[in-house]
Order: sequence, then structure tokens, then C-alpha cells
Amino acid sequence: MEAERQVAAWLAEATKVTVLTGAGISTDSGIPDFRGPNGLWTADPGAQRLFTLRDYLTDSQVRIAAWKIRQAHAAWTARPNPGHEAIVELENNGQLRAIITQNIDGMHQLAGNSEDLVIEVHGSLYEVECMSCGALTAMSDTLERVTAGEADPACLRCGGILKARTVSFGQPLEPAVLQAAQAAAQDCQVFLAIGTSLTVQPVASLVDRAAQHGAKIVIINAEPTPYDQKADARLSSPISEVLPRIISSGEATDARSAS
Ligand code: NAD
Repeated sequence: MEAERQVAAWLAEATKVTVLTGAGISTDSGIPDFRGPNGLWTADPGAQRLFTLRDYLTDSQVRIAAWKIRQAHAAWTARPNPGHEAIVELENNGQLRAIITQNIDGMHQLAGNSEDLVIEVHGSLYEVECMSCGALTAMSDTLERVTAGEADPACLRCGGILKARTVSFGQPLEPAVLQAAQAAAQDCQVFLAIGTSLTVQPVASLVDRAAQHGAKIVIINAEPTPYDQKADARLSSPISEVLPRIISSGEATDARSAS
């Protein structure tokens, strides 16, 4: 609890907080993570092929399986949880510099954070991209085609392979999006890394960038991460319980106006 009080005090004083979120913030909304105890890959390591660009582009069976997963994705029925809602409080308090999210589930926006404060470094499940001509379409339209019987729907404009506009292994991040994330990491007093195993680069190295620019580093994750030694504080309680305790609108406002 002492560590929580310390983090709450840092947050209460901060005017710029950058948040980095991973799949762990959405598990309490019913969306499984990849590497946690109940993660998709923990249960089935072979499932990684579905998220590897080369396999996706060369194997229609991988694409067919990926479309089935997208169709049944928990994000379509999930609701934001108190963890997401606590980050909305940070924005309402005027303290949020940005949310850098590795998640593709749209929960931060659904919770009420402003679109322009959410940096989706690994893309979004809500859009589909043609891997040949680059055409962008709505995921809902493509999933209707899957439901109607097209197991591996092709681009309606050029016949190319369609894929969710999410970043697979072997696929680079969009340079402008990465730059926005780097700028947010180096422009904050507190950097909160929440629900991420910090094993996917280059996103994980944003922790280093924030630390080099003087931010307090707080890691909130049930399991250890490779960056724990660099953290000023580490909290391992469930995210949807701990975030509302350390981010409270009243506390933050009172502390700032008292200082
Ligand atoms: P990860 O699966 O590698 O790690 C999630 C971490 O969160 C684990 O260490 C786990 O112990 C922790 N965790 C899970 N639930 C928690 C809880 N309630 N409280 C505290 N800790 C909890 O996730 P990652 O680091 O985000 O990397 C996975 C990649 O997969 C990302 O790039 C992302 O694009 C993608 N992904 C996204 C979603 C989503 O959009 N919700 C879901 C699965 C995977």
C-alpha cells in the first residue's frame, strides 16, 4: 500500500502523465491477453503464426483462421472497465499527455478518452487494409462478407489480400505513429506502463526514453517485466482495482490546487 500511496502522490502533483497500455488493462473487460496466465499464446503457442505477416500473406489457411478469430473477437461485446475509466479521469483532470496503447480493441475511446490523445501503435481492429493497394475499409463491412460465406475475403478494388489494420510480427510500425509515441514518452513527469509484459519492441523501449527525460517510471503489471529494475515503483495488484485507487479526481485536483 505504501508504494500505491507514493504513486498516488506523484500523480497528484503531475501536470503531464503519459500512459502506456497493453493487453492486461482489457482482461477485466473479458478480452484475453497474449502472454498472461490465461493468454491466447500461453494456451496455444502455435497461434502466433496467425499474427506473423509472412505466414498471413503466404498461407490462406492462416487467413481463414484469422478471420474466424476477428469475427468472434471479444472486443465486439466488451465494455471498458474501471481501469480504462480511471484513465478518463486523468484526462478530465487535465493531466493526460497521451495514451500510447498496444491494444487494438478501441476500449480507451469507448471509455471516453479523446481520439486525439490515443496513439494506437499497433493499429486498430476496427479497420481493414488491403495489402496490395492500401485501400482502407471498415472491419464491420468485411466481417459481413465473412458471415455471408467468404472465408478469406479479397479486396473489392484490386483483389489483394485483406488484413486487419493491426501490426503483425514482421510488419513495421507507422513512422509518424511511433514518433508521436516517442514525443509523448519524453514529455511527461510520470510514465505509467500498465498491463504490458514489455516484451514487444520498439514500444517497450519507450520506458527508457521516458526515464532518460526525467519521468518517474511506474509499472503496473501482475507479472514481472524486463523493465522492473528501471521502475521507480512497481504495483502488481489487479489493474481495474489499483488504477481507481491511485487516480482519483478529487485527490489530484486538491493536491494540485494546494501546491
Ligand atoms: P501481453 O499479453 O504480452 O502482456 C499482458 C500482461 O498483462 C501480462 O504480463 C499479464 O500478467 C498482465 N495482466 C493481465 N491482466 C492483468 C490484470 N487484470 N492486472 C494486472 N496485470 C494483468 O500484452 P502486451 O504487452 O500488450 O503485448 C501483446 C500484444 O498483443 C500487443 O502488441 C497488442 O497489440 C496485442 N494484443 C492486444 C489485445 C487487446 O487489444 N486487448 C489483446 C491481446 C493482444
